[in-house]
Amino acid sequence: MRVGIIGGGAAGFFSAIHVKENFPAAEVIILEKSNKVLSKVKVSGGGRCNVCNACTDIDELSKNYPRGSRQLRKAFGFFSTRDTMNWFEKQGVQLVVQADQCVFPKSQNSQTIIDCFMDQVMQHGIQVKTSCDVVSVEIAESSESFRVITAGSETLLFDKLIITTGGQPKSEKFNWLRKLGHQVEEPVPSLFTFNMPSEPVKELMCIVVEDALVAIRGTNLKANGPLLITHWGMSGPAILKLSAFGARILAEKKYECTIQVNWLNETAEAEIKTRLEQHLKQGGNRQISNCRLSEIPQRLWDYLLQKIDLPATKSCNQLSTKDCNKLVNVLSNDAYHVSGKTTFKEEFVTCGGVSLNDVSFKTMQSKKVKGLYFAGEVLDIDGITGGFNFQAAWTTAFIAARLLD
Ligand SMILES: Cc1cc2nc3c(=O)[nH]c(=O)nc-3n(C[C@H](O)[C@H](O)[C@H](O)COP(=O)(O)OP(=O)(O)OC[C@H]3O[C@@H](n4cnc5c(N)ncnc54)[C@H](O)[C@@H]3O)c2cc1C
Repeated sequence: MRVGIIGGGAAGFFSAIHVKENFPAAEVIILEKSNKVLSKVKVSGGGRCNVCNACTDIDELSKNYPRGSRQLRKAFGFFSTRDTMNWFEKQGVQLVVQADQCVFPKSQNSQTIIDCFMDQVMQHGIQVKTSCDVVSVEIAESSESFRVITAGSETLLFDKLIITTGGQPKSEKFNWLRKLGHQVEEPVPSLFTFNMPSEPVKELMCIVVEDALVAIRGTNLKANGPLLITHWGMSGPAILKLSAFGARILAEKKYECTIQVNWLNETAEAEIKTRLEQHLKQGGNRQISNCRLSEIPQRLWDYLLQKIDLPATKSCNQLSTKDCNKLVNVLSNDAYHVSGKTTFKEEFVTCGGVSLNDVSFKTMQSKKVKGLYFAGEVLDIDGITGGFNFQAAWTTAFIAARLLD
């Protein structure tokens, strides 16, 4: 049996190795369009490669995928984060789990993961063909085998194919997969930070609020977590999560929207009000500027007071009900205009790809073409930051490599 793996990235290597583990007699060839394999693995996690997340609860794990959550919940039953960690450790890659549950190689170097894959490829006799850009796949009429045609007009024959070409920002890059009958969800970027050119809040750059809640006005989209103010707008896990869950809506809005920030991640205004009243009572005749709530950094507190025209020198016991209400409002419902986006540390994924309706998640086999399988980001699956994207690649590659009908 000749198995062609199209795409030499994370999902391509993981599936190739597993095909050989499952079918030692198979001839396995990885076809990679560029002259380098595993280039995203190399740069991932700032060069450290966040291989997966330590979350082992499948329901919790699946919540980290704006697209593909439901299908992955099933797929994680076959291969999940614990299996990823066990697999790498079995190959001699020592791992460390950070306090935020992100899993990295102990070496803190993505090259360790690349070396592990290259060793496995050597041991299993897997061929890797670089500078091999696949431009179309034809189904041979006489049998169920495939003719793979490259940009260099080479034709290669395979009995089974696993497509692991990753996310593609340009829709036309999916044309050869469309030609095979697959529906493609339009690709748009995910995981980005928000530009706020008109907002003076940028002057507070480098300030972090540990647990804020951000929402996109006019939608149901919200996300919470640490929020970082940058010199171009806002970033941090809360914003990245919002960008991922809102990827499609934000693209439709051309990255122009208003976000509402709840600086305390407390949605019950009455709670905030009660807390603030007690706080002001304790403050007595001290100036309001010196009586910030513990979650709000001093510079942000001063900025918010200024934003609502509350004199910083006013003493706590002089605040009127109106002042108090304005303070509650700015703490819980602070609006900012977003205009444009910036890529986060060059880490991004594509929302969109081959429609999940066209793939069986028990096998990762295409429902349109027998003997053709998908794994990794080529599918309409993407996760937030934290090792979730690689986990989706490992899980789908593991399933595809069983080559089940
Ligand atoms: C800078 C950066 C940092 C990241 N860090 C992390 C991280 O730490 N943790 C995490 O979980 N995720 C991270 N991600 C996301 C993660 O890298 C991807 O989700 C993951 O690489 C997807 O794997 P894949 O094999 O599906 O696709 P890719 O890794 O993109 O591999 C696809 C391969 O297919 C090749 N290819 C494409 N088209 C063709 C064709 N027609 N013919 C032949 N070959 C083709 C491409 O050249 C590429 O080598 C990061 C992403 C970026 C950009």
